[in-house]
Amino acid sequence: MTDLSAFSLEGRTIMVTGANTGIGQGIALACARAGASVIGVGRSDMSETASLVGDAFTPIDCDLADLDGARDMLSDRYAAQAIDGLVNNAGIIRRADATDVTEDDWDAVMAVNLRTLFFLSQAYGKLVLSAGRRGRIVNIASLLSFQGGIRVPAYTASKHAVAGVTQALSNEWAARGINVNAIAPGYIESNNTTALRADPDRSAAILARIPAGRWGQPSDIGDAAVFLLSRASDYMHGAVVPVDGGWLAR
Ligand code: NAP
Repeated sequence: MTDLSAFSLEGRTIMVTGANTGIGQGIALACARAGASVIGVGRSDMSETASLVGDAFTPIDCDLADLDGARDMLSDRYAAQAIDGLVNNAGIIRRADATDVTEDDWDAVMAVNLRTLFFLSQAYGKLVLSAGRRGRIVNIASLLSFQGGIRVPAYTASKHAVAGVTQALSNEWAARGINVNAIAPGYIESNNTTALRADPDRSAAILARIPAGRWGQPSDIGDAAVFLLSRASDYMHGAVVPVDGGWLAR
């Protein structure tokens, strides 16, 4: 007997931030393939994702650096239709030697990667709890939730904090019907890593350390997200799951 219903997202509505490209696009596509309706939130044109996902995709224009606007967007949308899962994927990275990091760089990275991630989760949690429903949050963390990284201290600080916030929220909400977990992607081919892949020395050094022998694809993260959004992971709370080709095991 084959029964994969625990892994299905049939009938679920999933909101994915930063769904126009990269990992967010991979997550949107994987969720739709698993049966979900997907709401993609972002500040850039989402027509590429819309054409890949098809009718199950609804784009919403929103700059996530504007927290009030993001919160309003979420509550308006939730009022129209309950949202079964929120994927906090949108994030930015600023590369500079530690001596050259500016306060603007620091604040910009923290605003999207951490501040909006936390307060959008807070807003989502309030809506789910007051509706007496179940909910799921999947945060996109990083290997730099565990390691220091090179020339990205603000990003590293934000992603360490994402791991902490994931655990803090799960401690409060696990018994109240909301699963909060995170995925820590390894080195994935996306805009985020364009500069690394364009540097022959860094690129070769990174690849040499990945036991799987390849960079990751957005679809690798999409499939893991489906699991964390589905009934199959009901007993998972506060986990920060590496999907990294074995990088952290090395
Ligand atoms: P990406 O292609 O640069 O995607 C980042 C996404 O976030 C884009 O959709 C971007 O929209 C969106 N975003 C950024 N600021 C925003 C804002 N103010 N408002 C709305 N959307 C905004 O890189 P990615 O690799 O897919 O990154 C997705 C997530 O994975 C990030 O949290 C990143 O830190 C994390 N991650 C990536 C890797 C990797 O190796 N690629 C590894 C670990 C973790 P725009 O296109 O409009 O900028």
